[in-house]
Amino acid sequence: MDFDSLFNAQLDTLKDEGNYRIFAELERKCGAFPKAKSHDEDCPEEVTVWCSNDYLGMGQHPKVIKSMQDAVAENGCGAGGTRNISGTNHQHKLLEAELADLHGKESALLFTSGYVSNWAALSTLGSRLPDAVILSDELNHASMIEGIRHARCNKVIWKHNDPEDLDRKLAALPSNATKIVAFESVYSMDGDICPMQEIVEVAEKHGAMTYLDEVHAVGMYGPRGGGVSEREGLADRITLIEGTLGKAFGVMGGYITGSEPMCDFIRSFSSGFIFTTALPPAVAAAARTSVAHLKQSDQERANQKIQVERLRKRLDDFGIPHLENPSHIIPVMIKDPVKCRMLADILMQDYGIYVQPINYPTVPKGTERLRFTPGPFHSDGDIEHLVQALATLWKQCAIAHQVA
Ligand SMILES: *Cc1c(COP(=O)(O)O)cnc(C)c1O
Repeated sequence: MDFDSLFNAQLDTLKDEGNYRIFAELERKCGAFPKAKSHDEDCPEEVTVWCSNDYLGMGQHPKVIKSMQDAVAENGCGAGGTRNISGTNHQHKLLEAELADLHGKESALLFTSGYVSNWAALSTLGSRLPDAVILSDELNHASMIEGIRHARCNKVIWKHNDPEDLDRKLAALPSNATKIVAFESVYSMDGDICPMQEIVEVAEKHGAMTYLDEVHAVGMYGPRGGGVSEREGLADRITLIEGTLGKAFGVMGGYITGSEPMCDFIRSFSSGFIFTTALPPAVAAAARTSVAHLKQSDQERANQKIQVERLRKRLDDFGIPHLENPSHIIPVMIKDPVKCRMLADILMQDYGIYVQPINYPTVPKGTERLRFTPGPFHSDGDIEHLVQALATLWKQCAIAHQVA
């Protein structure tokens, strides 16, 4: 049996559609972020990364690096076991306390990634709570969708960021259902932010739990980096807040926070929490330093906002259309997978600008885009170089349109 022909047939389809994923092989340069060394022969040796989720450069913050180094020196590399069997390190407990405090919750529970935390928490809640129904925003992240799928409970999809649709759908459910409303604060592809207060009010009206993914908002919004729920004073009305330590916090890991019994319930019943090796103690130590730093320092957030505004303004100056949104994410719509890939390749090869093309299935077909995430370490010169390159390519595209 020629199994490879089965694999290749499906890969060929992806390639024909322009949706085949090509990863850029980089070496991040500590102290020089967002500059990185590229291992792609067709492009400059040094490139500027424009699509990192290390939004604030915390992955190279001296305090974060030092705490990881210190913890490695003290604890060695791995955790040595699952949380249940010898793997619970003091660093894990310290980090969980830090995270519970970040969101003003009783308790927190760590996972190996944000993906795993969503998958594990939603599947455990949905499968174990009596007559559970998960009401999921239609644009929720793949990790939530997989968790809901694995829960095998009833599910209802509601219109993106539409509290009225949620209200109607909640009203149609039987009164004995345990209702769980799952949604995100910042949606990372369009950069839009949910109407959190309305969603919370609708959920409260129907006695539903709220499950909020703050992955793209933790570290970024709220006076202490507690996310949009902190900024809007709503954290205490949300049943479960989920986040990552791998994006703005610059390290790795995922977590949930909420009441003591709820975290204990997920700790006790969730396969994705129990049957996997715990995060390395040094990762937990570095993440805690990052979380703690961003609780008391607003400098990184402030500088990032300035660069986000600067890039938006310069794109406007050159007439390059980008999605308006209230967040830190700047999507430039290309609306064609092949063109999107081609533009990204030219930016990388001719200009040393690295932005990953975002194609289906990450976004719907016809909404392909380049997604820029300016940070405090992008210089004004970096921004100028980017908009000049885009302006040149835009002109060439416009000419191509006229000829065609
Ligand atoms: C990235 C992402 C996750 C997963 O977090 P990781 O820590 O990267 O696994 C979860 N939810 C959303 C909305 C995300 O964008």
